[in-house]
Amino acid sequence: MKFCPNCSSDKNIKSGIVNNRQRYKCKACSYYFSVEKVGKKIDDYYVNKALQLYLEGLTYREIERILGVSHVSVMNWVKKYNIKRPYNSNYHPTYKILNALELSEYFGNRDNLKGAGAVVTELGDKFMLIKWERFKA
Ligand SMILES: [Zn+2]
Repeated sequence: MKFCPNCSSDKNIKSGIVNNRQRYKCKACSYYFSVEKVGKKIDDYYVNKALQLYLEGLTYREIERILGVSHVSVMNWVKKYNIKRPYNSNYHPTYKILNALELSEYFGNRDNLKGAGAVVTELGDKFMLIKWERFKA
């Protein structure tokens, strides 16, 4: 099985021979690649992170903005791994990108977490705090 080096989809079609190498076209993102090519490899880190954020209720566009991976790739991963999220759409979290010091200051203030749920996930050299105002009317 051949995976697209751009979005890691396994749906592709043969698309001619270039320089004696079979070329493929990804059906998901239209990226052309050949089997031997060492393309832009999507780090598993970003796949996991994107799916994690998706599950937390963020939109594709938000994930694109935060991680810098195309929303098309994120959509393909969601499809590929058959991710379904339990949240309804009017239940949307807010998020902040913080460094370690800002994060500890944030948690140091109890009011920041009153009546809310929060998770922290590593994001490169910073941290992302995702927060739900659960009990807001
Ligand atoms: Zn692709």
